[in-house]
Formats: sequence, C-alpha cells, structure tokens
Amino acid sequence: GVIWYDGKMVNWRDATTHVLTHTLHYGMGVFEGVRAYKTDKGTAIFRLKEHTDRLFRSAHILGMKMPFDKQAISEAQRAAVRENNLESGYLRPMAFYGAEAMGISAKTLSTHVIVAAWSWGAYMGEEAITKGIRVKTSSFSRHHVNITMCKAKANGNYMNSILAHQEAAQDGYQEALLLDVDGFVAEGSGENVFIIRNGKLYTPDLTSALEGITRDTIIHLAKVELGLEVIEKRITRDEVYSADEAFFTGTAAEVTPIRELDNRAIGEGTRGPITEKLQSLYFDVVKGKNPKYAHW
Ligand code: PLP
Repeated sequence: GVIWYDGKMVNWRDATTHVLTHTLHYGMGVFEGVRAYKTDKGTAIFRLKEHTDRLFRSAHILGMKMPFDKQAISEAQRAAVRENNLESGYLRPMAFYGAEAMGISAKTLSTHVIVAAWSWGAYMGEEAITKGIRVKTSSFSRHHVNITMCKAKANGNYMNSILAHQEAAQDGYQEALLLDVDGFVAEGSGENVFIIRNGKLYTPDLTSALEGITRDTIIHLAKVELGLEVIEKRITRDEVYSADEAFFTGTAAEVTPIRELDNRAIGEGTRGPITEKLQSLYFDVVKGKNPKYAHW
C-alpha cells in the first residue's frame, strides 16, 4: 500500500523517518484514528470533519504548528483511502517533529504529517461486539498531564493506556478501565465508557476522558433516536459493578459491550438490550443507511 507523507504518496516501505526523530524520543506528537465504511454510495469516511478538527485542536493545544491546512489533511485522508483501494478500513493521520536537533525544545524543528490507511475489522474481534468483553480496573490511572491535557489526542498521553492495556491482557482480560487520580471512572485505554442504570445512560464528564467522537455520536443517537436521558457526571467503580449494562465507544472499538468488570458480571453478563439497539443505530449511521445522518 501507500502512505500520504508530507504531501506525497509514498510506498509503505519508504514511509520512514530518522532514529533521531524528536517525537520518537519525547513522545510529543498528535494523531487521529478514523474509520471509513462501505456505503451504497461508495466508501465514506465517518465524521471526517470532526476528526480533522480534533487533530488540529490537539496540535494547537501542544503548540505544534501544522504545515498543512485542514482542507489538505481532509483530502489526504480521502486520497489514502482511494489510493489503497479500500472499501472500508482505518485511517491514522499523525503529526510529528523532525530530527533536525536533539533536546527538549521543538522550536527549530519541522513538523511532518502522515496519513496511513489499511483494512481493519472489529478492533477486539467480532465476538466482542456480539458477546461483550471482560474488563479489569487498571492500577494505572489517568495521570495529571493526561487529565489536564486530555482534549489533545497526543502520542505522549498513551503511556498509561499502553501500560493499562498490557496489565489487563497479561491478567487475561480484553481491556482495561482507567480511573482518574481521584478514583472515579475515566475511560478505557482507547475508548470512552458508558453505563445504563434504570433506563438512563451515564458517561463520565470530560474532565478525565478524551472528547470522543463516537461518544458524541452515541449521546446524540441515544437522546434523539431512543429518547433516553443522558447524564454526564463522575461515575464510581461500584456504579459500574451494579449497572444494568455497560459498553465502550471508540472509532476502533465502535460500540463494544462490557460483560464483566473485575470478575463481576454486569447485568446479565451479556450484551444488554439498550446496548444492542445503540450498536444497531450506530452501524446503520456509519454505513450510510440512515439518511438523517448523511452529513456525518
Ligand atoms: N479515549 C481515548 C484515550 C482514545 O484514544 C480514544 C480513541 O480515539 C477514545 C477515547 C475514543 O475516541 P473516538 O470515539 O473519537 O475514537
């Protein structure tokens, strides 16, 4: 395949960078995860504008100058899908600092941008979508910089996500649930989290979780299409244990039910009925089957 790299399409094997790349050493960079779906009208990138806006917002938060404008990066994403002949798949735009100088300061460095795209199925496997997953509360929390800078989807924010996911996987779970520094539920390693209790939908407010685009989509669909009350507030661990249903949302994970947290079954320990309805609404929208949401 090919990767869009600073304005040119290059072969996958030539899309390389120097070992002294600043971002490789210090983790300062920004990225997005975007999905393209097969629809009746061809391949459509879901909420391309929102993902591109967030990429630029992340760069702005980090004080990183983007060498391309939003229109160029939007077109780069369309081109990456087209040139790789993808019917559906995952896109990874990323901006990183160059290798002109070593040291903390990025002032004199160039910024590079890539957009990769590849074919990708269900993030945690098909069975995760239908049956739900087993999750472990992590001993790694969303730390300070993470929380104060959580509006940025920044490479450096992922160390504890990786540690949390690794810990959960080593202990035989499929995903980790991270708490914030006060012990309230924050999010998964790369997903926002929702619970359903007594017919109401709850999700942590955005003080310690990424402003997920799937989160926003699900809140909208729950309110408008299912008439559910949606409450954004701090959520405790025991509220998840005693929830009727729970699920993760993310571009990669889509809508993944959580059937167990810390060896405690959630609800019936299977995908819940409201979760299933939201999944079905979500998949219809991303696959262009709901004309009301064609603008997404
Ligand atoms: N939380 C984190 C830490 C993430 O990395 C992601 C993935 O992008 C999400 C939440 C979900 O966000 P979105 O729905 O925009 O993909």
